[in-house]
Amino acid sequence: MSAEIKNKIDSLTQELKEHTYRYYVLAQPTISDREFDQKLKDLETLEEAYPQYKDPNSPTSIVGGEVTKEFNTVRHDTPMLSLGNTYSKEELYDFDQRIKKLIGDDFEYTCELKFDGFAIGLKYREGKLVQALTRGDGVQGDDVTTNVKTIRSIPHLLVGNYPNEVEVRGEIFMHRKAFEKMNRDREASGEKPFANPRNSAAGTIKMQEQTEVAKRPLDAFLYQVIGDEKEFRTHGGSLEKAREWGLPVSNELRTVKTIEDVWGYIESWDEKRKELSFDIDGIVVKVNNFSLQHDLGFTAKSPRWAIAYKFETERASTRLESISYQVGRTGSITPVANLDPVLLLGTTVKRASLHNADVIAELDVRVGDIVYVEKGGEIIPKIVGINLDLRPQNAQTTEFIHVCPECGTELIRKEGEAAHYCPNESGCPPQIKGRVEHFISRKALDIDSLGEGKIGILYDSELVKNPADLYDLNFDQLVGLSKTIVNEETGESRLISFREKTAQKIVDGIVASKNIPFHRVLYGLGIRFVGSTVAKKLANHFKTIEALSVASFEELVAVDEIGEKIARSVLSFFAEDQNNDVIQRLKEAGLQMEAEKPEDLVSNVLDGKKIVVSGVFNTFSRGDLKKEIEKHGGKNVGSISAKTDFVLAGENMGPAKLAKAEKLGIAVISEDDFIAMING
Ligand SMILES: [Zn+2]
Repeated sequence: MSAEIKNKIDSLTQELKEHTYRYYVLAQPTISDREFDQKLKDLETLEEAYPQYKDPNSPTSIVGGEVTKEFNTVRHDTPMLSLGNTYSKEELYDFDQRIKKLIGDDFEYTCELKFDGFAIGLKYREGKLVQALTRGDGVQGDDVTTNVKTIRSIPHLLVGNYPNEVEVRGEIFMHRKAFEKMNRDREASGEKPFANPRNSAAGTIKMQEQTEVAKRPLDAFLYQVIGDEKEFRTHGGSLEKAREWGLPVSNELRTVKTIEDVWGYIESWDEKRKELSFDIDGIVVKVNNFSLQHDLGFTAKSPRWAIAYKFETERASTRLESISYQVGRTGSITPVANLDPVLLLGTTVKRASLHNADVIAELDVRVGDIVYVEKGGEIIPKIVGINLDLRPQNAQTTEFIHVCPECGTELIRKEGEAAHYCPNESGCPPQIKGRVEHFISRKALDIDSLGEGKIGILYDSELVKNPADLYDLNFDQLVGLSKTIVNEETGESRLISFREKTAQKIVDGIVASKNIPFHRVLYGLGIRFVGSTVAKKLANHFKTIEALSVASFEELVAVDEIGEKIARSVLSFFAEDQNNDVIQRLKEAGLQMEAEKPEDLVSNVLDGKKIVVSGVFNTFSRGDLKKEIEKHGGKNVGSISAKTDFVLAGENMGPAKLAKAEKLGIAVISEDDFIAMING
């Protein structure tokens, strides 16, 4: 019996650690918040009953999260705790009872929207934004100041009568519309879409490239002022002040007297939240008066004077009509559930992703089942369960397909991967079309005159089977080509045909693509695991397609941030004669197969030096310093290794980085040293 309980505690602990890591560090959760909270609660209950089996590092005793490696780690002046949360009205009323027992009933609550984003702490000194820290593990977080400075609604300078030093905390988020647009762009360029706006906000703020961050439409609301309690009497009052200093504060805060009023606020927002342009996942309830907050104090994990009420994720039930299988550009097979259309969060849902064979087996989902579908901000709804009481008697166990639905080839499953693949790369229509579609996508060759299903027409007409075929097309071949396209969602069909104007646009687009820089051509080739960032790194390092095509495994992994998986994929790509033929033809067609020489090279004083920039600087911004390094022939690298030539350190460089540099005997120089260096 006790061994069983110990096993249960161990396995829950392991599972939650994994999910915590996925949620906070990778920003890619695989289970819903609700499931996560439930598991955490189960573990807590078991640990209370059997404390002898509790892992000292149990997920129940940490706030969650871990600090990511690439940013400087900084200690929070005041720990950044998360709030206790609940999904039940009963527990909310219990919270009210606990408070009344401690401080009587002469107090007010504030009710606020709980923004579904990414927590951040901003420090202003003499009115100037000097630091932005992520929550991290609650005790120390990542310094993401440069990234946060790209968010337009966050002021770099305060106005009015602000305190000398103040920390303001809040949430960074993405508006739903902006999120949807960004995901459409990502999908168009073959990148994995983000699951929801929260993940995309979190993923963005942890990006290493500030210019990329600036392109993402992030917004923020601030909801807590940490400062001298004597200065502000109440939480609501402190936020009023913050608004006067020019900080983005929501207008929806209400002050109420009773828990019934709190409940009224919650109910009204559970309905109204769909009308907001961004996601909220609940309501935050706080005791308004700071001295009462002080009296109530904290538990080990969270304040006693606040609670977050979380909304139920909306869920619907409907019948699973059939399962179909889609073949992607890389041959991966995705099972899709076709549903009896059902309304969910205001949109009609007809399909849900079933991810892979394991998910189907785990759910034991069968055609004819009544399934539960959840959306909760995610683009593609998912099936979260089955109503077994309503299962038809003759329902058959779902057997995953064995052959490709498009070309009939037997499917394979690679070791350690969940997906099945069709290995017929050169003969499977969706793979062939998918590769050409990837080649013309926005981040690759950007031939938008070939978008909207036109590649399918060219493929059906046997004109285009690979990217190189595009460059053999001429105007006369294109005029008059046509095809009837059926929209799978609406069932409507329409005829697409190439008129003269369309044909000319296509020809012009193809010609213009010959000026697209090498790294984008490389990305367009669609080598597995070579996304646009990796393509840039490879192009900068090897300079020419020839050099890359003959690079050895050792030479590939020696490139900063290129791992074994990518290296192996590059090697196997260039091992195929077919790929080399396509490259040869693209080269002959006049595409860019060499990296451009940097035009604005000012000097060679840093020629080939690998430099890590870390910390906050006085004269230059971090971005400008990186540009200066390149202008003088140096190379920016992300992390310290034995190959690093020196570290350019500003203020607040993380102690871990400093220790690493010392251990490896790498010189650490100041901003002034650097300026002297580049000035000869
Ligand atoms: Zn196939």
